[in-house]
Amino acid sequence: MAFPLRVLLVEDHAFQRRLGLRMLAELGVQTPLEALDGPTALDLLEGGGEAVDLVLVDLDLPGMDGIELIRRIAERRSARAVAVVSAMDAAVQHTIALMARAAGLRMLGCIEKPMTADRLRELLQAFSAIEAVAADDDGDIHSHERIADAIAAGEVLPYFQPQVEMRNGRVVAVEALARWRRSDGRVLPAAQFISRVEQQGATAALFERTLSESARHWRAWQSQGIDLRISVNLSAADLADAAAADRIEHLVRQYGMPPDRVILELTESSAITDRVVGLGLLARLRLKGFGLSIDDFGTGYSSLAQLTQLPFTELKIDRSFVSGIERMPKNRATVAASIDLARRLGLAVVGEGVERSEEWATLAELGCTMAQGWLVSPAVPGEDIPA
Ligand code: C2E
Ligand code: CA
Ligand code: CA
Repeated sequence: MAFPLRVLLVEDHAFQRRLGLRMLAELGVQTPLEALDGPTALDLLEGGGEAVDLVLVDLDLPGMDGIELIRRIAERRSARAVAVVSAMDAAVQHTIALMARAAGLRMLGCIEKPMTADRLRELLQAFSAIEAVAADDDGDIHSHERIADAIAAGEVLPYFQPQVEMRNGRVVAVEALARWRRSDGRVLPAAQFISRVEQQGATAALFERTLSESARHWRAWQSQGIDLRISVNLSAADLADAAAADRIEHLVRQYGMPPDRVILELTESSAITDRVVGLGLLARLRLKGFGLSIDDFGTGYSSLAQLTQLPFTELKIDRSFVSGIERMPKNRATVAASIDLARRLGLAVVGEGVERSEEWATLAELGCTMAQGWLVSPAVPGEDIPA
């Protein structure tokens, strides 16, 4: 596989640089560029030549270090993406990745020294894949298209991803995830359009649609003898209206679905806009019997305060902690502590994004009770849930 990319390798060691350039050439990168320090790299990037796609940065450079170089690249947007080459531990790499992303730069990941051709190929493939999705996105969703219209037209509907009890593998719940069925037959996942829903202020419409479709499927499953709880995602913006609790209850009861079969998932980072209304609403929803789940736990800012002050019944451990957990001691420790905390607070715990059996085994060992992820099943249409 050839990569028609412009790649710049910044590395001070002559031997490692030659090795890296040779690997890049062998992977089909036509003219790999090189620089032995930060200033030279910046000159090259800003010299007015053809744009560079990817910069591989050795962190430990003389003079301007790799971190400062990445910051400057981000500041001036002088490359499309960066990746770090380093012998540093995962926490340091993660901090740098956060910094790069915060500055709006695409951070592809990290290559541990010594660099191998396999790892380098993975990285180039990741870059090509992201670019393909980005190109697709732009081609697919035209800027004039209003997601609110698509929701009203019934083109946006929930698929359902199973959640299983880890001790026996039984499916006890599903999460409703929005999908956009396009007229050409393609189905876009929420990740590709949810930010537009938010920008266009259409989260309430999406929520009502998703909830009533969920309740409709619940009734159909029920008639086949299948009893599942359904989790539905809720944006904090939808908590700003005091009448929402009654409306939500009415929506599900229309289909004969009792509120205790519904769990509303709120992301930890979604600040409750109008705290007074929002808090009152959460309390009211609990009184009506709805479950409340704290989504993406561990990625927001005020986890502990929110956990103790808000009436949550469930905690979902974010995918970023689950991915590769068996070989990442810090993630493992964080998840172990979260599970322990949940148990002490009497909350259910769901591990998200479980893709591999090693991840499943580690979560089970740490006492996680429920799991959700591609290892079990992706989200599927409601009609396919019984099977
Ligand atoms: P989320 O609530 O954290 O949902 C989990 C996301 O991870 C889903 O992406 C799901 O398809 C994906 N996923 C599940 N298992 C795996 C796995 O094993 N590996 C990996 N890599 N990914 C997995 P999706 O459906 O694209 O949704 C993205 C986000 O959009 C959701 O994150 C949620 O925050 C939001 N969202 C989805 N549906 C709705 C909705 O109806 N309303 C609102 N307000 N937000 C929604
Ligand atoms: Ca969720
Ligand atoms: Ca989540």
